[in-house]
Amino acid sequence: MTDLSRELRAALAQEFTLTTPDIVARERSTDGTEKFLLRLADGRQLESVFIPDTPSMTFCISTQVGCAMACAFCLTGKMGLVRNLTAGEIAGQVRVLAGALDMLEKKFNIVLMGMGEPLHNYDETMRALRILNDEHGLAISPRRITLSTVGLLPALEKLAREPLMPNLAISLHAPTDQLRGELVPLNRKYGIAEIIEACRRFPLSKRSRITFEYVLLAGVNDSPEDARKLAKLLSGVKSKVNVIPLNAAPGIPFERPSDEVIDRFAQVLADRGLVVSVRKSRGRDIRAACGQLIVEGQQKSPAQQLAVALR
Ligand code: SAH
Repeated sequence: MTDLSRELRAALAQEFTLTTPDIVARERSTDGTEKFLLRLADGRQLESVFIPDTPSMTFCISTQVGCAMACAFCLTGKMGLVRNLTAGEIAGQVRVLAGALDMLEKKFNIVLMGMGEPLHNYDETMRALRILNDEHGLAISPRRITLSTVGLLPALEKLAREPLMPNLAISLHAPTDQLRGELVPLNRKYGIAEIIEACRRFPLSKRSRITFEYVLLAGVNDSPEDARKLAKLLSGVKSKVNVIPLNAAPGIPFERPSDEVIDRFAQVLADRGLVVSVRKSRGRDIRAACGQLIVEGQQKSPAQQLAVALR
């Protein structure tokens, strides 16, 4: 920027840095999904994923290195929280992936479904969304962005008042507090009834719905009775249910149900008038699927070491 004075340039260089995450490794699944290992300025690493043809082009972006939520079936949860990402690091993932895939001029969706709990890093996540949305940023419409959360209630209520509103997905996974408390420890603090109540109050545009994600675990939460309870819970909520058959991995003490059980569960919901989809697992061969993002080679907690050792 030689049109700025030498003094100003020196002052800017001292006060600010302009960096994007470096691509350390890139792996391509047989289904076209690509997983990127990125290195941040302080050497910490994280993973982001490109999922083509969902039918849209989708970037699955991380909001934290690791995660503090410790959901029982999630490998990232086994890492514990290493640190929050800054807004620049969150938005930077989109820029780096779009650049690497030659998609900066193309339309794509963003899901905050990578590593981390976005509402546990609220301010930086919202700043990142504003940067991505800005006409001087990537001019991405909030309708193309989905924020997925376990339901941190105070932050969820704050989100309901934001001027810039992404689509909302709630990781529900169980129809009763007892079971959800075992799978999603945060449920012991903010229970299902409170979360659903907050969802009922959530401002939605005419055609939009809140997505409820439900990881299916064999013999744990996959019975027709569970499906009936779930349907009852969601009655009157503008919802759609996204059933996610577990992506099994060593270190995760659950199994994926059979296709018959998955279909039966989805059918019970559909019979009760719910909009249901079953998420296809993408990138499982490169461990890029939901709940499989984990980074080795940085300081690990004992649980994280165990998870990595068992892989
Ligand atoms: N922390 C946020 C964002 C992560 S989204 C959240 O929990 O919503 C990632 C989604 O993948 C969540 O719905 C999560 O519950 C799900 N998931 C985690 N581990 C999984 C696994 N092993 N198989 C399938 N889905 C999994």
